[in-house]
Amino acid sequence: MRVIRHVLLFVALLGFGCSPHATLPRIKVEYSPSEDLACSLPPGSPIKEEWKAEMLSREPEFVRLWQSEGLKLLAAAEAISGKDFPSQEIKARLTLCNAPSESFPGEDRVTINMRYALKSFTPEAVSIRYKVDTLFHELLHIFLSRHPIENSALLKEHATEDERVRDHLHLLALQKAVLLRLDEPDVLKEVVAVDSTLPGGYYKRAWELVNATDKEYLKYVAELSK
Ligand SMILES: [Zn+2]
Repeated sequence: MRVIRHVLLFVALLGFGCSPHATLPRIKVEYSPSEDLACSLPPGSPIKEEWKAEMLSREPEFVRLWQSEGLKLLAAAEAISGKDFPSQEIKARLTLCNAPSESFPGEDRVTINMRYALKSFTPEAVSIRYKVDTLFHELLHIFLSRHPIENSALLKEHATEDERVRDHLHLLALQKAVLLRLDEPDVLKEVVAVDSTLPGGYYKRAWELVNATDKEYLKYVAELSK
């Protein structure tokens, strides 16, 4: 009888414990100093040994946080939009190369610049949690390339904005919706604040538009949930 009860409990957990989106992508987080070799060879872009050492020592913290928080971010994005991430494995390469974080939708991979999270690189390092959200941001680019927004009235409204701003409006609105749904207003605050310091001012402008009113982001979310 007890065995049957255990089996029933297991079946119940299978049925009710999982989200309806059972195929979240597997994100393989990796830091490999040898992969950074090519970018560190040209003069002027060395990667210091102390950065590598700190990165290696903090990689487990990133992986732990991704496992506890990252999957919730993906599941919430799917629940809010009603659309799925691709189910195949996506490689997330942590890097100390002097290049911005980037997504490669056709190749199922993203790179995350970790320099600014290192205390050995800057005294004003950003949190590892912020970098987990950077990974989420890059994965959202892959998500949106799979679910492009057709005939967006909001993009028409902002036709004169720079392409890089326009490319981020729906993305940041969904990121905001996800963090609010997960009751993470402080994380959202850090994301907006740090993004707004990034070169070029594109993220700053995009966040300004998405945050124009309390409910502005919901208009973008509604377009991408169609
Ligand atoms: Zn981006």
